[in-house]
Amino acid sequence: MQIDWEKALDDIFSDKLSCPRCGSMNLTLVAGYSRSPAAAEFAPRSHNCKNPSECDARRLVVVCENCARDLRLRASPVDREGMMTMLINDCRKDLEDCLDYLADYWQEDLDIDPAETEARLEQVDPAIFAEEDEWRRKLEEEYLSYHRWFREHRIRIPNPGWRSEYADEIISLGYETLLGD
Ligand SMILES: [Zn+2]
Ligand SMILES: [Zn+2]
Repeated sequence: MQIDWEKALDDIFSDKLSCPRCGSMNLTLVAGYSRSPAAAEFAPRSHNCKNPSECDARRLVVVCENCARDLRLRASPVDREGMMTMLINDCRKDLEDCLDYLADYWQEDLDIDPAETEARLEQVDPAIFAEEDEWRRKLEEEYLSYHRWFREHRIRIPNPGWRSEYADEIISLGYETLLGD
């Protein structure tokens, strides 16, 4: 599977450190969050958007300091480790959203009668379930690739207990995860 961030990060953090927006060479890049579609174009992580034309999701963006000023991006300088930490935390937030959705947000989303306490998404709407499941699998693969990066560079992964908590919750809902033991 082709993971977008891998190429994006390689481009950003090759020896040259070129800015993904203007292409200028820089000693440091800056990273921050933005809801602006103009800035989101330079977000290294992919985003599963249900409504791209009106999307104002908060995205992690990496550019040079000049571009950050142009984009009015509140951002701080990052090295590669700082960047990977931001990426893995961002990926965790998306996985937590998947978990919340599977746990109960879907019932609200699909307007399920609250009396139907035994209803399961995969039975009520298999197509939505399949879509959710595929997106979660992509995120879990992305998560594993960050995990590998931290191991390969012998850097302690931030908040290492997160993974087993997440896996336990997914498994307790009756679903499978790539992040189990
Ligand atoms: Zn730039
Ligand atoms: Zn969106």
